Amino acid sequence: MQRVRLLVFNAALGPLDYRVPEGMAVEPGSIVVAPLGPRQVLGIVWEPERLPSADVPESKLRALFEVLPVPPFSMALRRLIEWTADYYCAPLAAVARMALGSMAALKGGGTTTEYRLTGHEPARLTPQRAAAMDALHGEQATIRELAERASVSEGVLRGMVGAGLLEPVTVDLDRPYPKARPDHAKPDLEPDQQAAADTFAEAVRSGGFQPFLLDGVTGSGKTECYFEGVSAALASGRQVLVLLPEIALTENFLRRFEARFGVPPVLWHSSLKSSERRRAWRAIVSGDAQVVVGARSALFMPFARLGLIVVDEAHEVSFKQDDGVRYNARDVAVIRARFEGIPVILASATPALESMQLAEAGIYRKIELAARFGGAELPAIEIVDLRTSIPERQRWLSPRLVSELKDRLLKGEQSLLFLNRRGYAPLTLCRSCGHRFQCPHCTAWLVEHRLSRRLACHHCGHEVPLPDKCPECAAPDCMVACGPGVERIADEVAERFPEARVALVTSDTMNAPGKIAEFVEAVENGMVDVIVGTQLVTKGYHFPELTLVGVIDADLGLEGGDLRAGERTYQQIAQVAGRAGRGEKPGEVLIQTRHPEAPVIAALASGDRDSFYEAETQCRRDAGAPPFGRWAAIIVSSEDEAEAREAARAIGGTRPNLPDVMILGPAPAPMALLRGRHRYRLLINARRTAELQKVIRQWLGDLRFPSGVRVGIDIDPYSFI
Ligand code: ADP
Ligand code: ZN
Repeated sequence: MQRVRLLVFNAALGPLDYRVPEGMAVEPGSIVVAPLGPRQVLGIVWEPERLPSADVPESKLRALFEVLPVPPFSMALRRLIEWTADYYCAPLAAVARMALGSMAALKGGGTTTEYRLTGHEPARLTPQRAAAMDALHGEQATIRELAERASVSEGVLRGMVGAGLLEPVTVDLDRPYPKARPDHAKPDLEPDQQAAADTFAEAVRSGGFQPFLLDGVTGSGKTECYFEGVSAALASGRQVLVLLPEIALTENFLRRFEARFGVPPVLWHSSLKSSERRRAWRAIVSGDAQVVVGARSALFMPFARLGLIVVDEAHEVSFKQDDGVRYNARDVAVIRARFEGIPVILASATPALESMQLAEAGIYRKIELAARFGGAELPAIEIVDLRTSIPERQRWLSPRLVSELKDRLLKGEQSLLFLNRRGYAPLTLCRSCGHRFQCPHCTAWLVEHRLSRRLACHHCGHEVPLPDKCPECAAPDCMVACGPGVERIADEVAERFPEARVALVTSDTMNAPGKIAEFVEAVENGMVDVIVGTQLVTKGYHFPELTLVGVIDADLGLEGGDLRAGERTYQQIAQVAGRAGRGEKPGEVLIQTRHPEAPVIAALASGDRDSFYEAETQCRRDAGAPPFGRWAAIIVSSEDEAEAREAARAIGGTRPNLPDVMILGPAPAPMALLRGRHRYRLLINARRTAELQKVIRQWLGDLRFPSGVRVGIDIDPYSFI
């Protein structure tokens, strides 16, 4: 009799053993359906020696139901799942689930039904149907997805199908993607670009694990260089995974990819509709998807023949996932490349200190591009001291910045104003009683959004309409907005320069891929004079007519005292500065600050990146911070404050006493209330020699908590709230 051990997709269950019925073929990695009590579970066949569990006698084993018609997860992927679960102290099942991506795709290919408007427009419509008709132009999706898109019930749409307003369309889930052509439009590379490109292409051709740090100034053509690695993979029939830090950047990437290879790549991200997910997942598994571009969730996809991984803008903190499995996609990408035996390229103009350190140590091979493409100069940087160039009351642009803006408007050139804060104002208070609007579920102020006339919490999404009187003292029209958000900056520009065409770019205005495409097109066609944006506009874009960048508040990121505050500020400002002067006209950057003497500001002003990295490195070394020491956080939360406090105290009370591990807390987390949960935190600082994960597992392994308590472990944390 053949027996198998399953890793089941349910983190609450341990490994389970089953009997393989006569005639069923399974191997490690096969995805199977098995009975569990009266129900069924989905599982992956795993090597029993790697998944220890008490042996069940043969007589008790139940038989597997079926093997799903998808290729088994490869050995490399199984080892990656184990590594990730082990390193990040996460349940194996939770990690494995990330590789499944689309549950529906497991059932096989074939066809599915979507709906679209028929074009028939009756003379009279109910208001709901009329709204749906408006919202669904050019859309095709399942009834459920269309209902969500149009904000109407599924019933309304089914009625419209009956009335001949919507029609079914059969979608073939396994229709192949058009093939990319490795030599479709090869660019003429400059000598240093060519050298980098050759290195990548050669590494792809010869195979084997090789991590690269592609460190090139903004506008140096990093994308063009790693595209030659992509081209080599295409030519040899291998797949490529390109990770981008956020979906907002894919628009730009898609266009460049299509120009280079003749067809768009395959997209993978969380807002794909279900038929796209199924099609993409199946093509990834079969090997038909040649190049997949996605946010971090694409990292665990079960590729058939992966030949190269690229992590673009690799310094970005959004590669770190902060809920569910708390992993860092940049780091796990390197581990995946190691298990797959393939090259991996981390590309950035401002690499993370951790990556620099690994390059220095010779673990990553550093490839440098020191100059901008086509002889474009890096922009001139000027520090504007807000203590001497003072904005008027309730205004945020200094006289110096205003005068440069005016100059660009006169010359017909474009400007970009950067402030990393959504909404109109970060704090609203009552003029008569001082009441501050606070989120009831979080330790956070509500942010005024004037465009949508709401107060919103940026942590949990709680929203209320802008009240017309104070909820505390009932004074009418008493609300005062304190401080600026991007909406307020856009207002100021509009007031000062009524004729200027302003584009406001934040996740509130760019909430669909189409909007980003529209924005990019408008800027490229010279329809925009001033862009006002959050970090969404700091990277990826190439606007040759943009010659002025204004950083509204360089000090913003330095508050809070986070371990990476200096580095993050440096990266963000260097990136946004990198948008200026990418064409023939030189660029200029004005950085508004109250602390011109702060090391990061001084480094930006002098362009002395090396000495900034050196100083930061020294600080980290002195503090035993990464990459020289290690951090981990334990976050205990519950809806019940006393319960959270008790659990945190219990954890604190059983802390191990080890020479190479220092444990701080428990203490209320800086965000003591988040999404309605009370939070306590312990911070662990360990020497590199300590077996950090083992210590934590042993420490927490035997503790039991009430069911309302969640204990989250964050290895190498990025967020210290
Ligand atoms: P980075 O990612 O390093 O900021 P990009 O790859 O975006 O730089 O390149 C900047 C711009 O220069 C892009 O518009 C790109 O198409 C162009 N470019 C770079 N290298 C070349 C080249 N060899 N030939 C033609 N255009 C190039
Ligand atoms: Zn909130």
